[in-house]
Amino acid sequence: ELRVRFAPSPTGPFHIGGARSALFNWLLARKEGGKLILRIEDTDLERSTRESEENIKASLRWLGIEWDEGIDMGGEYGPYRQTERLDIYRQYTQKLLASGQAYYCYCSEEELDAERQRQMDNGENPHYTGRCRDLSPADRERFIAEGRKPTVRFRVPENQQIVFKDMVRETVSFESNGVGDFVIVKSDGIPVYNYAVVLDDALMKITHVIRAEEHLSNTPRQVLLYQALGLPLPQFGHISLILGKDRTKMSKRHGATSVEQYKNLGYLPEGIVNFLALLGWAPAGEEEIFNQEELIQAFSMERVAKNPAVFDVDKLNYINAHYIKQASPELITELALPHLREAGFIGEELATKQREWLVKVVAELQGYISYAAQITEHIGVFFNDDINFENEEAHEIMKDADIPKVMEAFKTKLTALDPVEPAAVQAILKSITKELKLGGKKVYMPVRIAITGKMHGLELINLIPLIGKERTLARMDCLIA
Ligand code: GLU
Repeated sequence: ELRVRFAPSPTGPFHIGGARSALFNWLLARKEGGKLILRIEDTDLERSTRESEENIKASLRWLGIEWDEGIDMGGEYGPYRQTERLDIYRQYTQKLLASGQAYYCYCSEEELDAERQRQMDNGENPHYTGRCRDLSPADRERFIAEGRKPTVRFRVPENQQIVFKDMVRETVSFESNGVGDFVIVKSDGIPVYNYAVVLDDALMKITHVIRAEEHLSNTPRQVLLYQALGLPLPQFGHISLILGKDRTKMSKRHGATSVEQYKNLGYLPEGIVNFLALLGWAPAGEEEIFNQEELIQAFSMERVAKNPAVFDVDKLNYINAHYIKQASPELITELALPHLREAGFIGEELATKQREWLVKVVAELQGYISYAAQITEHIGVFFNDDINFENEEAHEIMKDADIPKVMEAFKTKLTALDPVEPAAVQAILKSITKELKLGGKKVYMPVRIAITGKMHGLELINLIPLIGKERTLARMDCLIA
């Protein structure tokens, strides 16, 4: 059975890159009928918070990425939070120490820093020289007496060629001699990432480790640990970096980087998931719109690319716009509300009538936006009754000799109209062209300018019922007077 995991460190807002890793694991699990495990890697005690963990879980659920086992879900191989597994790590550390595959290191930070500095001054690559590798019992006792708190270092075997297969990158090979004995347990007893991750992945029977390319440089150390512990290697798959459009690593400079920021802007989970799937995975055909079911069907690790993925916001917007169009106006209204409030279009309280009206307005605008917050850029025409000509051209059009007749006719007919509905508005505009023997453009365009100040915009016959009879007439008076 395929078992994959997503193993975030809860040290800050849930990054879009983390969501992409989670998604690829989830897609693979669903495609292969396997299991997705969610494990929390909180061994960085200073930076890990429960708040961040909650945010990660909420974001995953919002995206529709459900895990089968792990935190909040339980399972056979728990606990699933690393700080609750310290006893487990300790047992393995004892074994490694007993067999001599690991040893206590009493070097202080200052000593290690000085060593590093010396190596760099000599033009060498900084590495641990193995001073505590073979300490005499006397030295050890002296260090203990001095009250030094040891770390545990892994004894890296010499002259080994280490080879592992990567699903994305094919075979990776490296020399053990370059690695240097590394710390696996810090002096406070907390294991480092490279060590805990190996034990967890092995004990949780993970078959495929799919994670970001950032971790490719950690994998050699992990492979050495698997071998030392006699644990079977999983398959590795390192998925490409995500770059900004300028081809530098994605960062805050490139705009929103956390899932929550996109959620708050009124992106839809379907749009984010569809877009993230295309960050490093390429579908076989031209089609780029995939719902979750289609993604599961189409996804395969064979089509995951080695080269960096570029985070193209325009593409995200294009994809999200597709899902915005399909969504219910009620939902988009709900997502737009905070932004409409912030922009001052509406107040905190919303009367039922006003909400119903707003939903109709949103339905009218939905086809023009990529995410809900953009509603604020288009909605002004429904709120602003103080009409000005957008430009000289619009002003000129209204100086035509026929204008007073058109305006009078429209005002009279609109006044008499009840109820004001698109088809009825259509009918009065048509009848004016007939009665005054004018082309459509000579009627529609001036009426639009009179009501909005603009020459183009939303469907006029939909706009007028939403602005309403009274306000439409008042706008006409205001501009024409
Ligand atoms: N906790 C690591 C991270 O968030 C997980 C790396 C891994 O998947 O092995 O980067």
